Amino acid sequence: MQNRDYDVIIIGAGITGTALSYVLAKYTSVKRVCILEKYGSIAPLNSNATSNSQTLHCGDIETNYTLKKAVQVKHTANMLVNYAKQVSNNNFLYKFPKMILAVGEDECERLEKRHAEFANDFPYMQLWDADKIAEIEPTVALKNGKSRPEKIMASGCEDEYCAVNYGQLARSFIETARNTNTSIDLKLDTKVEKIIQLEDGYECQTTQGRFRSKFIVVSAGTHSLLFANQLDYGMDLSILPMAGSFYFIPNSLNGKVYTMQNDKLPFAALHGDPDLTEPSKTRLGPTALMMPKLERYTGGTYLDFWLSLKLDGKVLKVFWTLIKDSTIRNYIFRNFLFEIPWLNKKLFVKDAQKIIPDLTAKDLTYAEGYGGIRPQIIDKTSLELKLGEASIVPENDNIIFNITPSPGATTCLGNAYRDAKIICEKLNIKFKQEEFIANLLNGKNLGN
Ligand SMILES: Cc1cc2nc3c(=O)[nH]c(=O)nc-3n(C[C@H](O)[C@H](O)[C@H](O)COP(=O)(O)OP(=O)(O)OC[C@H]3O[C@@H](n4cnc5c(N)ncnc54)[C@H](O)[C@@H]3O)c2cc1C
Repeated sequence: MQNRDYDVIIIGAGITGTALSYVLAKYTSVKRVCILEKYGSIAPLNSNATSNSQTLHCGDIETNYTLKKAVQVKHTANMLVNYAKQVSNNNFLYKFPKMILAVGEDECERLEKRHAEFANDFPYMQLWDADKIAEIEPTVALKNGKSRPEKIMASGCEDEYCAVNYGQLARSFIETARNTNTSIDLKLDTKVEKIIQLEDGYECQTTQGRFRSKFIVVSAGTHSLLFANQLDYGMDLSILPMAGSFYFIPNSLNGKVYTMQNDKLPFAALHGDPDLTEPSKTRLGPTALMMPKLERYTGGTYLDFWLSLKLDGKVLKVFWTLIKDSTIRNYIFRNFLFEIPWLNKKLFVKDAQKIIPDLTAKDLTYAEGYGGIRPQIIDKTSLELKLGEASIVPENDNIIFNITPSPGATTCLGNAYRDAKIICEKLNIKFKQEEFIANLLNGKNLGN
């Protein structure tokens, strides 16, 4: 009979769970780690290259981030760049030109201000006028072969890492973890149904039998909150699953072109990106639509949606606050129409013309099978829709629950660093902090 007792069990082989397996194997003396994954492959859901926008979020082109948040995200993104430099086979991280595009006087003014504010922390970003934009991205700067009628400006750079195939990265993490002295068992097609707390640890009841460990990290993406609720944690949180879809056009951009964010629309930052899995195509999106399910394209999970929404007066209050704002209401309605065949292309093209003015509805193909789900969090205590990630870390128990909307793939090593330190402290195991800081943080201790 196989030994099913582990030091640490990780639930979910997405980018969050696999990054943690790598950090535990390389930077701690944890001996036995097991990853339990519901489906038959690594990174089958949101971390798959077809599900997300493949962006390494560095904070430089995301106008929804404050400077503080941008600097934080940049540090965790750098960990990933440092990891790529240390492995022999980097088949996941790529350089392209990238920019934030401002269209019209008002946006150009806002962009110029932001560029100046961010200049110290992002010295490689340059302010580009229409001529420079035309040099880098001709389809963005021209309309019918002439300069665009509106003023345009961009803050961009040409030689930075900015695109990641997170599915390949997850596979790389497992491979690197397995080249250490730590034993890493990956159990595919093993759905965890229940977690039971024991006196000296936990037991996972799965479709392949029982597994025990001293510590559990639940990195089950949209499903993490349901596991927390099983053990009575996170009862004040709900999940609002926001699906994001994409459209393809024939290859039209040389790099990533992000647009300026409307402050009132937290999910809305349409962008154009080269697709790492479809080199002949450019991807536009994502859209943002609330869906009553926790997984896209797998069938089912409708009941899980209701269980993790926990609909009550407080959740309704948060919905009401959102929809009583006409900008948000119109945006929600428009994104619903983006999913309706025929009408969708006619409407979407109007938004996409902000990036490529000559685009027509005929150029667009709905990217069937692409796009994932972002588990946005509703905090029922503060009655707010939270935009970032959330982790539940009970003080007196050996368990962590990670809920990871965007930019959760970029921050995978930052989250793994935090989790590994907690695990080591609670299990009284050494964490090789100095080595971690030297290898992944350019020698700078961030103090977290
Ligand atoms: C449209 C869109 C665009 C995005 N773009 C970006 C981007 O450009 N950059 C970025 O950084 N982030 C982006 N994100 C966010 C990013 O995709 C996620 O933050 C990240 O993939 C989350 O990784 P994860 O491992 O936590 O979750 P997942 O990848 O969802 O993995 C969770 C795993 O847990 C498994 N699991 C669930 N339940 C069980 C169970 N009961 N038993 C066993 N296993 C289970 C699942 O099968 C899955 O493999 C985007 C998201 C979307 C939807």
